[in-house]
Amino acid sequence: MPVSEDDVRRALAAVPAPDGRGTLAASPALSPIVVADGRVAFAILTTPEQAPRLESLRRAAEAAVKALPGVGEVLVSLTAERAAPAARPPQSHRPAEAPLLGAGIRHMVAVASGKGGVGKSTVAANLALALARQGHAVGLLDADIFGPSAPTLFALKQKPESDGRRLKPLAAHGIRLMSIGFLVDPEVAMIWRGPMVVSALTQMIRDVEWGPLDVLVIDMPPGTGDVQLTLAQQTRLAGAVIVSTPQDLALADARRGVAMFRKVDVPILGLIENMSYFVCPHCGGRSEIFGHGGAAAEAAKLGVPMLGDIPLDPEIRATSDAGTPVVATAPDGPHARAFLDIAEALWSRLEGGALRRPPPRIVME
Ligand code: ADP
Repeated sequence: MPVSEDDVRRALAAVPAPDGRGTLAASPALSPIVVADGRVAFAILTTPEQAPRLESLRRAAEAAVKALPGVGEVLVSLTAERAAPAARPPQSHRPAEAPLLGAGIRHMVAVASGKGGVGKSTVAANLALALARQGHAVGLLDADIFGPSAPTLFALKQKPESDGRRLKPLAAHGIRLMSIGFLVDPEVAMIWRGPMVVSALTQMIRDVEWGPLDVLVIDMPPGTGDVQLTLAQQTRLAGAVIVSTPQDLALADARRGVAMFRKVDVPILGLIENMSYFVCPHCGGRSEIFGHGGAAAEAAKLGVPMLGDIPLDPEIRATSDAGTPVVATAPDGPHARAFLDIAEALWSRLEGGALRRPPPRIVME
């Protein structure tokens, strides 16, 4: 018999409510429960101040559901539903006992775009691979909860192994990988509300054995503010890289992306212009079909560095779509060169020290 929402509720009747009155099953702090294919996800709503004290309750709820027959992965999170920047308490209010997510990760870099389809995931994956080729220990977190791309980009289908507490990232071409696409069906993640998205994200950082990493590249979902805010508040995010295409429209979106990070005090590490120019495979001639250079002009206007540009090329498309990213499969070719140059520019910005900023102001565990 597949596990049902009622089974989960019955299991949660053995767990106390966060306020100690009655059971978690009957508590208003329990979010809707999502059950699919033996995988269960729900959140316990709380406040940033209370969250650290509820970690043992979160674990108890997780254990109670895991003990049910037929249950595979269980995702239980503590979520503060309203964590708007304006409502952030000053730094001194951050509970001392709540650790920042991602200890052991030297630099966390968000790769973002203002809209979908500009090649953000392709760039994130190849950038991660390029950093690894330069000798760094690299992880790639596909945080695009609504449209995970790592399973396709790396042709990976297997589920990550778990020791009951933590998940082991998958490995491909020398980097460590985690994606919501390895854990739940895309249709399940599609219906998640803000708090569920945030909890899935925090778990993919906190409950994954990333090991010591030089860089964790985070492939961000387009648009949404929840994820940006969570990373800004709960991690020591080094900064964001914005991917854009040269068209005016995409640049307007890129501006929005930049503004979103600036609002939550995350530095912009630079802009990357993707699908920037086309090199004819027959004659080698270079054509700038979208009017190359728009991103450089925009970067100058916004006062952020230009990290580099990537050509529009059928090989980049074919290798991405076949699960064999170009930096891994043709590391000596011109496309890989473009990514390697950007990786070098990014690394020197990360290590340059100019970007250090004070820790974020609140932590919700
Ligand atoms: P996003 O993450 O912004 O939605 P993707 O990385 O999924 O974008 O890319 C969208 C499509 O464009 C994919 O089919 C990908 O292979 C293709 N693509 C991305 N970058 C390039 C490029 N530089 N040249 C050719 N095709 C590209």
